[in-house]
Parts: sequence; C-alpha cells; structure tokens
Amino acid sequence: MRLARSFLLVTLTAVTCSQAPSRSGEVEAIYSDARALYLDLHQNPELSSHETQTAAKLAGRLRDLGYAVTEQVGGTGVVALLKNGAGPTVMLRTELDALPVEEKTGLPYASKVRAKDDSGRDVGVMHACGHDVHMASLFGTAAIMAHNKAAWHGTLILIGQPAEETISGAKRMIEDGLMTRFPKPDVALALHVGNQLAAGKVGLGPGHRFSNADSLRITIYGKGGHGSQPNSTIDPIVIAARTVIALQTIVSREVKPGEVAVVTIGYIQAGTKNNIIPDQAELGITVRSYKPEVRKQVLAAIARITKAEANAAGALREPKIEHYEATDAVYNDPALTQRLEGVLESTLGKENVVVEDPGMASEDFSFFTAQGIPSFYFSLGGADPDKFTEAKATGTNLPSNHSPLFAPDVDLALHTGIAAEVALLRNLLNGSADELRKSVPSGH
Ligand SMILES: [Zn+2]
Ligand SMILES: [Zn+2]
Repeated sequence: MRLARSFLLVTLTAVTCSQAPSRSGEVEAIYSDARALYLDLHQNPELSSHETQTAAKLAGRLRDLGYAVTEQVGGTGVVALLKNGAGPTVMLRTELDALPVEEKTGLPYASKVRAKDDSGRDVGVMHACGHDVHMASLFGTAAIMAHNKAAWHGTLILIGQPAEETISGAKRMIEDGLMTRFPKPDVALALHVGNQLAAGKVGLGPGHRFSNADSLRITIYGKGGHGSQPNSTIDPIVIAARTVIALQTIVSREVKPGEVAVVTIGYIQAGTKNNIIPDQAELGITVRSYKPEVRKQVLAAIARITKAEANAAGALREPKIEHYEATDAVYNDPALTQRLEGVLESTLGKENVVVEDPGMASEDFSFFTAQGIPSFYFSLGGADPDKFTEAKATGTNLPSNHSPLFAPDVDLALHTGIAAEVALLRNLLNGSADELRKSVPSGH
C-alpha cells in the first residue's frame, strides 16, 4: 500500500517534470537497494565516533558503484569521489551516527541494539535522528548519478560524516585534510529528515537555518561549612541562584529587541546534604544566536555577570568559565537557495516545496561551509501524511527527532530525498565551475 502510493507520487512527479521524464524509472530501479540499506542501518545503529560497520557498509556500496572511496577520514569518515569530466565540484553530505536512545516504535524492524557509551554506561542505540534515511538517500542518489553520467559533468564528492550528534565529526574530517587531500567543493549540500513536514515535501529558506551554539560550564567557588553556620561560609548555591536570575537579563535587557539570542541554564549542580554548605556550584549553559556580533555580546555578558555576582558575594576566587563546545550557524546562500528552490519545485511540484522559518538547533555542517563553501541545507518531510494531517487537526505534535518514537514514513521520504538530491546535483553539475562560483558569490 505504502509502496504503491510512493510509486504513484514519483510517477506523477516525473510526468510533470519536462526535463527528466525517466526520473520515476530511475528512482524505482535503485529503490529496493536503497531501502535494503536503510533497514540494515536502522537495525544496526552505532554511536557517535563508533560508526565502523556503518562506514564500511556505505563505503563498500559506493565503491561497487565505481566511486573512488577513502575511509577513515577524521575517524570513521568516508569520502567518495566520482569524476565525470570538467565542471564544478559539488559535495553532498550525510551523517553516520545514531543516538543513545532505546527505540520504542514497536516497528518490525526496530533497533534492539545496546552498546556501552563513552562513559561505560549500557544504553539502547537508535537512529532516532533519521541519519539512516540520509545515508540510504545518499546511496540511492549515488547510484543514479553513477548509472547516468550523461546527465551531468564535473566532480561529485559524497561525504559520510561521523559524530554529528557530538558536534565533532565535521571538524575532525577537516583537520584530517578533507579540503586539501580531495578537490575543494564549489557548493555543499545536505538535508535533514523530520516530522515537522509531511513526507513527500521538502522545506527550505535563504539565510540562517540553524543557530550558532556555544556550550559553557561555569564553576562558582564559595567556601563550604556547616549549614547551621552560614556566617562562616561563602554559599556558592546562593551565588549560583543569583547568577541564574541575572543571566536572564542578557536577552531581555542587553540584546537589541529583534535580534535573536537564547541563554538557557540546562543544569545547576551543587551540594550533597541538606545541612552542608558546599564549596562550589556548577552551571551548564547553552547559548544560541545567529549574528556573530550578538554571539560575542552574549558570551561577554555571561562572563561579566558571572564574575560580578561572585565578587558581590565576596567569593575568594573568580568563577571558572569553560567554553567547551562551539558550532557556527548553518547559512543558506541566498542566490543558491533561490536557484535550487526552482529546481525542487519543478521536480517535486510547487505544492511540495515549503518555505520554513529558521530554527535554533545546531549542526556541525557549518564546519564544512566555514571553509568558504556556499551551501544549501534543506528539510526532508518525514511524517506519514495521514498522521501529519491528523496531528495538525488535533493540535498535537508527532514525535520529534531524538524521540524513542521517531518513525519516519520511510518509503515516501526516501523516494523524495533521492529525487530531490539527484535533481539538485544535476542542476549544479552542469556548465563550468567558474559559472557556478560566479552565481554564488557570497561564499559565506
Ligand atoms: Zn540529532
Ligand atoms: Zn540529525
């Protein structure tokens, strides 16, 4: 039933698409292989930086298609090149990793995998972010691009990136020479599946898509002692509480109205027992922003307020502020987005291309584009269309990415992902590299 509907969708799409009347046949010809890879990956998920089998499966299949494949780039990363004459160089990226989530979808192909996480805890493992859809889509796209080299020219680079969920894989691939050992892309593409859109649709928009993200760990030093004698102590819990409240004024009082910033204190930890005043307290903070100047302003305000609150309480030592993770915003080149929006509309139908607002999530795809590569990142609808309509009607939300119940409508999403990626690549891998570079001058 589901397959029949997907087939119908792709057939109709092809009929309305004048340049490529054979597209439905192309997708159907490779679809069972792509679906088989999806099922295998879904049932055998691996945690971030441990994607050994996943990388080997993807690398092996791409090699069989004729790609020149390099493995172990920045850990378990995979780089697959297909050179097809002169022309632009275009990169398409998928992530490889799954999450420490125990699957509760009840699907016949649900993951039953358990593994030790990096701190030695036994955890369930699940492709709860849908990276298995991305890999299967990239593989289907790779097959079509390899089977029909008359429809494009240039160099196609497919990237299997490890450790996206820990925001470390893209950086490690670049540090391992991704931009120097391999041709540097003129344009980079990526997609992400999610239930905020019905399967069969894609979502996009120009400019910022995801925010800058900064992770801070702040240790506030007090002076511990007996709970009955606060006069002999400097209570770090009270300092931490005042700091938490004062930090709320950064977004509400310091950032210019209309600019985007988020300061969230995700945890506050101190103490062991009700009658002991502890020595120190720790705050875990996430900061989100779009503009570099707002990011700088917010980070400086956090440091200023944190130090001042400790000082006001007479703390003997300045708080320690550790900035342990930082990711840049994902930015869609506006000219590129406009061009590719037209491509997706003529491939999938205008009604299946939705303009979306930017989000405050973060993504380390920005490490690739920070190398001066204009990029286009789009959403792939994952929700079963009937469930999506029902959820809209009742005002409920379908399980989001990272939920143990995340279960995309695989057939429809995967058909759409492959059709979209192939259309985008064929549009970009056309003409000369110079023409492509000139058409996307921003190189954000
Ligand atoms: Zn995720
Ligand atoms: Zn993800």
